[in-house]
Amino acid sequence: MFIGHMAVAFAAKKVAPKTSLGTLFVSAQFIDMLWPLFVLLGLEHVRIDPGNTVVTPLDFYDYPLSHSLLATIGWGALVGSIYYLKMKEQKGALVVAALVVSHWVLDFISHRPDMPLAPGLSIYVGLGLWNSRIATVVVEMALFVLGVGIYRSITTPRNKKGTVALWSLVFFFGARVCPQSIWSTTAHC
Ligand SMILES: [Zn+2]
Repeated sequence: MFIGHMAVAFAAKKVAPKTSLGTLFVSAQFIDMLWPLFVLLGLEHVRIDPGNTVVTPLDFYDYPLSHSLLATIGWGALVGSIYYLKMKEQKGALVVAALVVSHWVLDFISHRPDMPLAPGLSIYVGLGLWNSRIATVVVEMALFVLGVGIYRSITTPRNKKGTVALWSLVFFFGARVCPQSIWSTTAHC
């Protein structure tokens, strides 16, 4: 998924108001931050396969360390624990851990059945939202509007700068899912 991950991070502010938005974003995208690193290190693999889905030409045929369900739960536990050790805040730590795992759930909805359940296990799942460009845009935008709406309902920008910063961020993320960017994207999300 693209901005769906950001939507969940925005919405999570409602349950973890003390946790910074930046931390929530990083948690929701954590396994996508590991993925390019693991590919560069040769631990995971991806290949170009035009038409793999209509949204991306990338074939994610080997990424169990970053994107299997079991590994994602492990990463969530690790990131949540680090957060707890640093911030001593249980609720925030649980939300951070849940956000890491939420990435797998949203990717499971988007990807064709290429999402591994555990390293070494040849079972792959995925609902394949990415097989439809229109459905992808509709679902992503709906999630994003909902997430930003929840965030806006519980926060008040301190000043004009805060308002501009928020809407710049929203525009920046929103532009990622406009139909044109989905047509040409080669990014993994
Ligand atoms: Zn991902």
